[in-house]
Amino acid sequence: MTLPSTDTAVTYPDGDLTSTGTVLHLEPLADGRTAVVLDRTAFHPVDAVWPDQPADEGTLTAGGRSYAVVDAVVGATDGTVLHVGDAPVRTGTKGWAFVVCHLVDDATGLAEGDAVAVSVDAARRRALSAGHTACHLASLALNEALSGLWTKDVVVDGRGRPNFDQLAITSSRILEGGSVDEYRIGKSLRKKGFAAAELATGLEGITTAVDRVLADWVARAAPVSIVRDGGRLGLGDRRYWRASLPEGAVEIPCGGTHLRSLAELAGVEVRLESTEADGAVVLTMRTTARVA
Ligand SMILES: [Zn+2]
Repeated sequence: MTLPSTDTAVTYPDGDLTSTGTVLHLEPLADGRTAVVLDRTAFHPVDAVWPDQPADEGTLTAGGRSYAVVDAVVGATDGTVLHVGDAPVRTGTKGWAFVVCHLVDDATGLAEGDAVAVSVDAARRRALSAGHTACHLASLALNEALSGLWTKDVVVDGRGRPNFDQLAITSSRILEGGSVDEYRIGKSLRKKGFAAAELATGLEGITTAVDRVLADWVARAAPVSIVRDGGRLGLGDRRYWRASLPEGAVEIPCGGTHLRSLAELAGVEVRLESTEADGAVVLTMRTTARVA
């Protein structure tokens, strides 16, 4: 069996829920499951390097037979071996092909060259997209609400606010209808001029400020899209989330799926919580997206 030399063409960034493709490779895994690699897919896989948005759920259909996709992960190959969900390099690294591995329990009947129809569970995708769109909005609103706590110049976000989100984030998890982001404010962030002590005492006011910004953006029903770098369809090619917010379009690098407009949201709210751990402040932001 030959390994794919090019990335899987992915259509989920455009919101696609179905696609047709050809089986390029079948990789039997140690646990008895099989990774099915297609030339093209609408199925969003989880990326182990930054596992923010979980995999879609859905099926592959070939030869009148349906195969439940029990998981989908980013795979990477340099032509010698296929790493399934444990790539030794970042997605997009040159010299590697990045592929969507659709994991099925039993691939009996599937063969290389088969035509396959991909179908994604629409309700779950929509809930994850709402959660992911709200997550990006909340990160920008948080940057805005914390902008007064910086005493030095640091890297700014697409709206020109100090990019607390980029500088402090340690993990981001997209849920159905929301997200959980964790930030760590340690010595290096304090050295960059962030007034960590004022964060814990001001959480209530910060939460109110974030929610007020979010309510304003949602009310304006701004369009949202995914922009592909150079229009390229490959899984490893860079993509950006773009939202037309009041002061102009804002872009954030993003490999996930999103709503098409903030009009699809009835509201977005956050809950902030801070704890101390090893001399650092850990801030947790729980974002809830209510779908219109
Ligand atoms: Zn994203």
